[in-house]
Amino acid sequence: MRRIHILTLARLDRATQKVTIELHHQGLWDARLRNVPIILVPAGIAYGWQWYGGSGEICIPRVSLLKLHDFFTGNYMSLADVLRHEFGHAVADTHRGLFRSRHFTTAFDRSHESNDRSEYAPATHISRYAATNPSEDFAENFMHYIRCRGNLPSKHATPAIRRKWQFINALCRAIECGRTRW
Ligand SMILES: [Zn+2]
Repeated sequence: MRRIHILTLARLDRATQKVTIELHHQGLWDARLRNVPIILVPAGIAYGWQWYGGSGEICIPRVSLLKLHDFFTGNYMSLADVLRHEFGHAVADTHRGLFRSRHFTTAFDRSHESNDRSEYAPATHISRYAATNPSEDFAENFMHYIRCRGNLPSKHATPAIRRKWQFINALCRAIECGRTRW
């Protein structure tokens, strides 16, 4: 059994470096994303959060109550996955023009800013949490996309999820080309 670690700055730095390289490979590591600070904070309920629409930084707590809870049920998120998910929010926050578009709405069925929860359906949602609202749906798909280097695993290869990954793929190409609008 793995020990519960209190997150250290060294571990956060290592995970950030790893995810940064993955983002770089996808063409996403532009000046806007480079400017998003990643901050280690003492404690929090969630695994991490990003101050969307505000100061913009990603905060990762040394001790997360949700992670402690999940640890005892045996399925907690890796630190790299937490960072991939939060970077998804940061990409949306720093590239608003590419998200306030029909491209997003077509892929995710509603606008990025909508707070509407969906009924969870495995054929539509890559995870249970993705049903929370469109911005979480995007961040969850983004996390898997970055981890899988854009190769959609066959168990998730449904028409609805494929549409979302096609959006993320087009988004990566647009950001790589320095576009701020479609
Ligand atoms: Zn989120």
